[in-house]
Formats: sequence, structure tokens, C-alpha cells
Amino acid sequence: MDTPNRHLADTLRNLRRQRQWSLDAAAARTGVSKAMLGQIERGESSPTVATLWKIAGGFETSLSSLLVPTPPACSEPEVRRAADLRRSPAEGEMLVAPLFPFDERLGFEVFELTLPAGYVRRSAPHEPGVTEHVLVVAGCMAVCIGDRWHALAPSEAIRFAADQPHGYRNDGDSPAVFHNLIHYPRQWGRAD
Ligand code: MN
Repeated sequence: MDTPNRHLADTLRNLRRQRQWSLDAAAARTGVSKAMLGQIERGESSPTVATLWKIAGGFETSLSSLLVPTPPACSEPEVRRAADLRRSPAEGEMLVAPLFPFDERLGFEVFELTLPAGYVRRSAPHEPGVTEHVLVVAGCMAVCIGDRWHALAPSEAIRFAADQPHGYRNDGDSPAVFHNLIHYPRQWGRAD
């Protein structure tokens, strides 16, 4: 099993144990099938970002905590390099780099996301209270909030309540790169 799958398998099993949820209960809370959850816990599946979001929402935890270990609470300043962190969950086309994984003291995480030319991604609503900030670094892209697309150039940014349908689109012919700061409701991600 590769390292991300191992981390996800261990994290999901620990979350279920903390909450004392059966696979059936976890399936009901997350909307992910019992069979799929079992495969993930055995490291037999590399779920899509959409599936990871369902799991994060159902367990009221962050997306990044499913991808990488939580950083130590009192760590020294450290240069984080997206180039070393980028990967594509489930062999999707979007590259995801957890620049600052979720920290429960701060309530947010920061990703760098890279969309290839022509890429369109639709995301289901996240849980109430989840707020996304999109800060464009490179390329020519648009963000859909509800049913309206907003065009964004480099150095432009937009913030929105992510408990509604939303999406991201690369309108250019080169990769679009943006930072996504996701803020979670209070108490999320805290150990019970
Ligand atoms: Mn989203």
C-alpha cells in the first residue's frame, strides 16, 4: 500500500473508532457505500476528491487530514514547497498540494491546486459553515458559485460559502494554478 493510501486507511479507521460508528453508520453519515469505506480502510481504493469530501463532511473533519498527517502543534517555521507536495488523488487530472494541512487551533487549511487546460470541475456542497477562498496564482480561470461563473485573473481572489454547489474551470490553454484556503466551523477536526 502506498503512503497516502496507508494514511487514509489508518485515519478513517481511527475516526470510526473515536466515534464508535459501524461501517453502516459511517456509510449513512458520509453517503459513501459501506463496501467503498471497507475498501478504503483496507487500502484497496484510491478515492476521488469528491469521495474524500463526502468522508470529511460526514465525520466533520478537514479534507487535508485525510491526505496527510496533522502537523505538530508547535513546529518551527518551515518552507513548504508545492512542487514536492503535488499529487493527483485517484489519478485525476487535478493536482493537489496540501501547502498547510488543517490545524485545529487555526481552523483552516491551504491547498495549491493545478487545473490542466480545459478542465472543469463541479463540486457538491460542503457542510454548512465551510468557507472557501480562491486566490489565483497563474492562468485564466473561473469559479462557479451557485449558478454564476466568476472570471478570475492572476492576483484576483474570491471568497464564498461552500455549502452550495460550486465549481472551478480553466479557461486558458495553459495550466491554471490557485491557492484554496478552506475555513471550517469551530470544533471541527478536534479529537473527541
Ligand atoms: Mn469545494
